[in-house]
Amino acid sequence: MRAAVMHEQGAPSVLRIEEVPVPECRPNEVLLKVGACGVSYHDVVERNGTYQRGVHFPMIIGNEVAGTVVTTGGLVTTLKAGDRVCCKPFQVCGMCRRCRNGMETACTKRRGVRGGYAEFVTITEEALVRIPDSVSFEQACMLGASTGVALNAVRDVAKVQIGENVLVTGASGGLGIPTIEIARAAGATVIAVTRVASKRDSLLEIGAHHVVVAPDGKDFSEEVKALTNGDGVEVVVDNVGSRVFTPSFRSLAVGGRYAFVGQLFREDISINPARIFFKRAHFIGVGSVRRDQLEDAVKLVAAGTIHPRVAKVLPLESAAEAHAMVEAGEVVGRVVLRP
Ligand SMILES: [Zn+2]
Repeated sequence: MRAAVMHEQGAPSVLRIEEVPVPECRPNEVLLKVGACGVSYHDVVERNGTYQRGVHFPMIIGNEVAGTVVTTGGLVTTLKAGDRVCCKPFQVCGMCRRCRNGMETACTKRRGVRGGYAEFVTITEEALVRIPDSVSFEQACMLGASTGVALNAVRDVAKVQIGENVLVTGASGGLGIPTIEIARAAGATVIAVTRVASKRDSLLEIGAHHVVVAPDGKDFSEEVKALTNGDGVEVVVDNVGSRVFTPSFRSLAVGGRYAFVGQLFREDISINPARIFFKRAHFIGVGSVRRDQLEDAVKLVAAGTIHPRVAKVLPLESAAEAHAMVEAGEVVGRVVLRP
């Protein structure tokens, strides 16, 4: 089969198209014919060397997979050849204490999905969720790492309520876009923060009620306060991390919830603890997506409540080009590879 294989980390050109054997299916795994694989910022840092966990060569990256079941291992009971599926970005044991307590995203044996930049990939049954014919592979591939994580953040961690104000950082990114849609669907007023003015119109079209344009380092909190009668927002969903932390925290209302979803840079934040208790603030960490949340994300897309944004579909041979686009932050929506 054809695959984009990495023999080292580095520039996009390290993704080289090669002929490799079709992977063998273990008893608890399913062999998928890849219909589409999303290109995320996670892929970019796994390729450029920022991300080091579990990296070994040769390596085929790609954890946003949707495709068709070709064969199933002997222990697989819920899927059969021909089923259309999408995946969580990681696989778990299903047996440990965390898996048994609704914390599967922190499973002690958690293993990232890889291998989506290829014609075929094997993934454990547990990490796969069936999709209806009405949901395309191009849309479905991003439901785990993107839409599902946003659903976890907005609905289940930050517990956004109708009538609340929600600030979304990194608004035009892979997590920001579904966060806007889901928060709006939950009845919130959504304030999107983006670095570039050219993305304002598309963010309004996606569902943001207000767009705040702020380059890194700019304090946008006064603008947010002005949009919220001086009170600030009840919820921050922060997909960026350190570079926007201070103005985002200043934008938070008294008693508000600050949900940390992403951290794009290797740096720390600094805050005087008194500011946290004076504000009665809640800091909460969002970790990936559970299987049931991915199932719910599929339902929301099938029902037309959420519309995953596909920015560009490219052949596998254009993996390097896709990475350059995503790394430059040029696109609104997912860049998707179709092997
Ligand atoms: Zn486990």
